[in-house]
Order: sequence, then structure tokens, then C-alpha cells
Amino acid sequence: MSWFEKMKSGFKTRSKREIPAGIWSKCPKCGFSTYQQALERNCWICSECNFHYPIGHQYYLELLTDAGTFAELDDALSAADPLRFKDTKRYTDRIRDGKKATGLNEAICTGLGRLGGHPVALGVMDTRFVIGSLGGATGEKISRLIDRAIADRRALIIVSQGAGARMMESAYSLMQMAKISAKLHQLSLAKLPYIAILTDPTYGGITASFAMLGDVILAEPGARIGFAGQEVIKQFLKVESLPEGFQRSETVLRHGFIDQIVRRDELPATVSRLIALLSAGEAAA
Ligand SMILES: [Zn+2]
Repeated sequence: MSWFEKMKSGFKTRSKREIPAGIWSKCPKCGFSTYQQALERNCWICSECNFHYPIGHQYYLELLTDAGTFAELDDALSAADPLRFKDTKRYTDRIRDGKKATGLNEAICTGLGRLGGHPVALGVMDTRFVIGSLGGATGEKISRLIDRAIADRRALIIVSQGAGARMMESAYSLMQMAKISAKLHQLSLAKLPYIAILTDPTYGGITASFAMLGDVILAEPGARIGFAGQEVIKQFLKVESLPEGFQRSETVLRHGFIDQIVRRDELPATVSRLIALLSAGEAAA
């Protein structure tokens, strides 16, 4: 049985124009149809245009840890509803839907493992859980992960994706930005590396805190990276369109906000090499 079959809920593109029967997928960017098994072998990257299909957290866990080494942490930690928030839907219903879609109790899966033999503490966000937003429990899971990285002397890797702070938790969500940033400072003082991996989309309070605080910041090709979303910017500027490539990782790289764009299938080797380079002093000590 392949890892794909073993996954709790499988990859799901968020395209509404999914092809029935689940055998073929049509690239949302170029329209090229590919047999799903071929896509899977290619790390869900379109062979025609390099579009990176959205994938669930399970895939990144498999990709960024050596086989059989990942052990999840704090999996029972779940979002609370301190404000009893309701907009078009109850927040508790959104949490329930997120749990069902991801098999997670929060918008991030955290744990310990090895990558290329290096001990790592890994966190992977999942936009299927309340659009990957940063809630109180999300922040707590990341903070605890950093604590473990420091205690065990592990490199930290966080795969970011999401819309930003979770408005349904108001200030409880916003304070996570400061909390995680402070924890990352402790990691830095402990001289342990943090590799930030930005995937599509990375916005708001996620960009404004841990996504941009990596010692090395990597991004997948074509990922939307920004603070305010494109629709908000269009409305604010009163324009109908934005320049081509606006907020895409290629543009963000040109403006110096990230260090390198890395194809998904090259992430394990690149991250492993970076950890080796950044931990060289550690090994010699
Ligand atoms: Zn394509």
C-alpha cells in the first residue's frame, strides 16, 4: 500500500472543477490533464507548467521526514471558542468541518522526526482547517514544538499556509503572533536553525510572524505570499486588476523577502542540506 492510500483523508485540490472518478486531474493553471498516479509520482506538480497542486499536511509530513521517523505531538490540542463567535456560521461548526476535512484537531500538525538523519521538529499547516488560520491552539502547538526543539536540540521546520490570524478568536489569535515570535527568539539564542517553508497561500498574521522569521525562508513556486489579500488590495486601491505575478513567490523573491524558491520535489534535499550547513558548528562542538 502506498503512502497515498494510507493517508487519512487524501490529497484534495480545492478546485471546484474537479474531474469526476478521481483518475485524472486537470491542471487549474494550464488545463493539462494528467493521470493522478503520474501526478503523485511528480509530487503533485504539473509536468507542463510547474503548477504545484494544493496538497494536505500528510503529504508534507511524508516528504520532509525520513520514512517511519515522524511522531506527532499534542494531537489532542483543539481550538476553543472563547467568544462564542458566529458569523454566517458558528465557529464551532467551522472547527468541526476542519476536523472532518483534515483528521486534525487544529490547523497545524506538529511532531518530531528525522530528515536526512538530522533530528527535526516539524510543523505543517493545513488550509482545510478554518482556512489554515492561526488560532490560540495553533499558536500553542507551535510554541510547544519550539520548546521541544530547544530541549532536544533539533532544527525547526514549519510549512506555512493559511489566511492569517483567526478572526473568530480575536485577540486570543493575535497574541499568538507575539508568543511564537518570542519563542523563535529563544530558539535563535539556543543557536538552533529554523527553516521556514512558505506554500500557497501564506497571508496575514502568519506572514507577519513566524513565516518571515526563518533563518532561511524558502517558498514553493507560484505561492501567493503577502499580508492583505488581493481582493482587499483591489478594493482599497479601487482597481480591477493587479500586476501579473503580484504577491507570487517569484515577485516576493525579487523584492528580497524570501531566500529561495524550491520545487516541492526538491524540498527534502534542500532542507536537509541547509540543516547540515547551519548545524555544522553544533556537530563540531
Ligand atoms: Zn499545468
